[in-house]
Amino acid sequence: MKQHYPFPLLPLPYAYDGLIPELSKEILFLHHDKHLKTYVDNLNKILAGYPKLQSLTLEELLMGLDTLPREIQIGIQNNGGGVYNHNLYFACMSPEKNQSPQGELLNAINRDIGSYEEFVKKFTDTALGQFGSGYAWLVSKNGKLQILNMPNQNTPISKSIKPILNLDVWEHAYYLQYQNRRNEYVENWFHLVNWNYVNQLYLESCRG
Ligand code: MN
Repeated sequence: MKQHYPFPLLPLPYAYDGLIPELSKEILFLHHDKHLKTYVDNLNKILAGYPKLQSLTLEELLMGLDTLPREIQIGIQNNGGGVYNHNLYFACMSPEKNQSPQGELLNAINRDIGSYEEFVKKFTDTALGQFGSGYAWLVSKNGKLQILNMPNQNTPISKSIKPILNLDVWEHAYYLQYQNRRNEYVENWFHLVNWNYVNQLYLESCRG
């Protein structure tokens, strides 16, 4: 994720039908090729007018929101966050289903959250408790895990907290298949979590 302007639409890391039956082909196509593409395009449109910001990575832009020209702060927060959050969301799912956390990450879950079962319960409550659009997040503060939610396309890296897993609970993420049943979407999403990748992100967060 060391890219800078113009930001690319990263390809979906698996086939559009790779997450059936938990997520339909139609949902993944629209979510990636339409919703994420719009965030990428809008982010690049904003930055086109600010050559001095074009060498910054997405992380640098989002971590330094307060230092950006006032007139683009909200646009970068929404569209830069939209790109960052979706790239993480898609990378944190895998067609290799029913993985579970291992090794140091599992130790940290047991230490900071209680157990994997407790993690599932708390993460579910957090995802269902997000009023309106937003995400549930698993974050690492120098190796210490915490679950939180944030509205819209806000992202923990703007608060210098390293996210290692997120769950998009905007209606566009599930409505075509689950209608108003966010709870079923969340329940099924746990089958898809790419714990191998989350584990890598966790280890990186411990190295600082
Ligand atoms: Mn989304």
